Amino acid sequence: MSKTFKIPNGILTLSESKAECPYCERKISFSEIEDTWINQESNHVKIKCKCKNLIGVTSNIKGDFVAYKL
Ligand SMILES: [Zn+2]
Repeated sequence: MSKTFKIPNGILTLSESKAECPYCERKISFSEIEDTWINQESNHVKIKCKCKNLIGVTSNIKGDFVAYKL
């Protein structure tokens, strides 16, 4: 399943969310990232996981979301 986002410089198509919280290993769904992603002006966002840790999410070259520790 792919999803298209409008970003300031054009359109970004992401194929799948592969983001996984680096702290609790929970899979982070598109819908959780989406609202923040739409409002961002760079290629990464910060979201708060349900484990209360702040994590960074970015997209890799394949168009997948990946999460990392901040
Ligand atoms: Zn977590």
